[in-house]
Amino acid sequence: MLSIFKKPNIIFLFLIAVQYSTASNLDSLTQLLQHEQQQSNQQKEVELLIEISQFHLKKNEFETALTVFEKALPKAKKIQNWENYRVLSVDKAKAYLSLNQFTKAIETLTKLIEDLKPLQDNNLATAYSELAETYRRIGNNELAYEFHLSGLHIYEEKKDSVNIGRTLYNIGSIFFYQDNYEMALEYYQKTLDLCTRAKLERHIFSCLSAIGGTYNRIHQTEKSIEYNLRAYELGKQLDVKSGLAYAAMNLGANYAAMEQMDKALLYYEEALALNRETNDAWGECGTLRVIGEALINKGELDKSIEYLTAALEIGEKMGFRPRLIELHRTIALYYEKKGDYKLTSEHLEKYANLKDSLANEASLQKMSDSKTRFEILQKEKELALKDAEFYTQQRTFLLLGIGILSIILWLLYKQNQLKAKNNLILEEKNRQIKKQNEELAQAYSQQKETTQKIKEQNKQLEQSNIELKRFAYIASHDLKEPLRSIGSYANLLQRRYNNKLDSDADEFLNYITASTKRLYDLLNDVLHYSKLDFDHADIDLTDAKEALEIANENLKNKIIGKNAKISFGELPKVTADKLHLVQLFQNLIDNSIKYSESSKPSVEIGSSKKDGFYEFSVKDNGIGIEPPYQQKIFEMFKRLHNRDKYDGNGIGLAICKKIVQQYGGDIWVESMAGEGSTFYFTFPVPENS
Ligand code: ADP
Repeated sequence: MLSIFKKPNIIFLFLIAVQYSTASNLDSLTQLLQHEQQQSNQQKEVELLIEISQFHLKKNEFETALTVFEKALPKAKKIQNWENYRVLSVDKAKAYLSLNQFTKAIETLTKLIEDLKPLQDNNLATAYSELAETYRRIGNNELAYEFHLSGLHIYEEKKDSVNIGRTLYNIGSIFFYQDNYEMALEYYQKTLDLCTRAKLERHIFSCLSAIGGTYNRIHQTEKSIEYNLRAYELGKQLDVKSGLAYAAMNLGANYAAMEQMDKALLYYEEALALNRETNDAWGECGTLRVIGEALINKGELDKSIEYLTAALEIGEKMGFRPRLIELHRTIALYYEKKGDYKLTSEHLEKYANLKDSLANEASLQKMSDSKTRFEILQKEKELALKDAEFYTQQRTFLLLGIGILSIILWLLYKQNQLKAKNNLILEEKNRQIKKQNEELAQAYSQQKETTQKIKEQNKQLEQSNIELKRFAYIASHDLKEPLRSIGSYANLLQRRYNNKLDSDADEFLNYITASTKRLYDLLNDVLHYSKLDFDHADIDLTDAKEALEIANENLKNKIIGKNAKISFGELPKVTADKLHLVQLFQNLIDNSIKYSESSKPSVEIGSSKKDGFYEFSVKDNGIGIEPPYQQKIFEMFKRLHNRDKYDGNGIGLAICKKIVQQYGGDIWVESMAGEGSTFYFTFPVPENS
């Protein structure tokens, strides 16, 4: 690929040429130099030395030129004229290149870079580009790429479009010679866009050529011709001979691809002439090879080897490794056609070795690393720029913003934390409540069920109580009627036939009347029990003492008859129907007198207050009750003695129990056989007392 960008020092040289218009030859220049040396004008001295060196270079007097550089360079460095120092160093490197002394050339440029590094200016960038191009020419693509990127970095910083374009173009060329046409096109296209924007026509021209050439390589002939023709026209218009040569060569390649060899050769010959006219060895080497190739295709083998040999000579002399790769392949093709397979394989081997050395994996990787480094640098630079602007203009706002944002974020974070915690607690609470609710619902339903059962049982009980009451009432009431008749007729018989029948008959009649009376008493007791009516009771605050006195009054005959002594003190008031209270005392005192063998039965009635209850006691000195029977005696019809001994129906204590329980109290007995009994019963202490 051809580098057609002009050196930027051309104007400077033009100015020097005008200034020293009289110094048209070496002698004049030498004289002027001596003059300036006498004047100790070091600046002028360096400028003249540059001109002298270039005079020698033009004449291919490289060794002489090198001696001039040795003189000039320390002077330029001393006066810190870095532009001249750079021009001298680059030219020195070129001289070494022309002498095939690549190492020396690279050393010169590397030193230049070291010296210019602190400046970070265009001179340094140019030095990078020169070093990169030197590496590219000798096929060290990875270093070429890396140094081009270093240069690009500076050019971009300086917004130097021309040199950015040139560097991008050169990078494109590196990819081109690695057969990486996709990347090559990308860089060429970038360069074309940049140059179009900057209206750099010369550069547009070289880009068009390069793109045309690349399309040709990937066999997109139509596109290739389109770009090549545009380049060719523009080249003619601008009269850029070196570039025109390249465009012509590309067009030739297009026709060769279409197998129109004569047309191809016409363009190639035009290119070769232009190469030679412009001293473009690189271009000449390439053009000679394509002509050789076209001639092989035409079958003109003898003619072709002439061109190929000439190309090989230039390529080897100049160390154009990329050119040599293609050349060896073409020469191999020539020997193949000639039937010389030994030489064919020799050249193919050379081709392969060179190819490998230029585009192996490691090389590609290094290039990719360089690119990444460059991109990172670019990004960092952009960021630093943005940061600087941002901080100067909006630092306060930024800090404030960051502060507020941090607080908001912190609050949000805390709120979230709290929320999360609360949610957990709530979830746990909900779970517990749910569980409790379930348990409550279960308990409630169980309770409801139980209540319902109790209600039903109560209802049944009530019903059976009513029925029982009714039965007891009917039974006792209705039975009393025929019993009364039996009793009446038995009495009548007794009265009318007393002593008129035999003695047995009298006895039998006595049994009948006694039994009738007993049955009558029993029925009365049952009737009495069943008629205990609490629904219509006259419940009020009742003086227990009054009730006791009434009971004693009712028992007056029995008390006197048995010579009993009833004693009592003050008794409290309780909430009850007075009749019930009278009945209670009466039954208990009656029993105390009845179940006594003492000649002087005594009954003591007392009371005490315990745990919200009044506890009444009825104590006698009677026969006592053995413990196993102390509970049973409160059941209906339960009696401990024969009726012959102690009369009774076994209902009295049952009535007492029923009354006490009805008012929420209890009844029990404490006794020992033969030692008297004490009956206790309780009543709740009325409210407000
Ligand atoms: P009744 O006296 O008509 O037989 P009660 O129900 O009044 O029926 O008494 C049940 C039984 O308790 C009595 O038969 C008697 O054996 C016993 N009893 C009741 N009071 C006393 C008492 N104070 N002392 C000894 N035994 C008694």
